[in-house]
Amino acid sequence: MSNLKYCQGPECHTYHTQDRLRGPKGNKTNQTRRRSSLNYGEFCDTRCEHAWLSKYATIAVDHFGRLNEVKHLTEENAWTKTYNWRASSDESHRHYFLNHITKERRPLTIEQFNDSNYTINTGE
Ligand SMILES: [Zn+2]
Repeated sequence: MSNLKYCQGPECHTYHTQDRLRGPKGNKTNQTRRRSSLNYGEFCDTRCEHAWLSKYATIAVDHFGRLNEVKHLTEENAWTKTYNWRASSDESHRHYFLNHITKERRPLTIEQFNDSNYTINTGE
């Protein structure tokens, strides 16, 4: 059983690189890249990522919800996670929320920092 992930780029197999040329000697073909982990999520590189977006972005946006009005940055939704990369690893306030409007900082644990569902933003 192979746990390799296949690059989802629709044109991946059409790009000419040595590592895509695979198969038995004399019968090699350009093949979709497969890796134990892909560097760009579902894709082997940004070219494949862009090719997928070019082909499927409109379908994906229509599926997940199209933005039809402007959004506004407000104090309530201006929080982003960040960290002080110069702080030593044992400092408790290395990771924090930063409000980009008020400049207020609120400390985060590393678990909260890594949890993509953890937010203090309210509203859109
Ligand atoms: Zn690819």
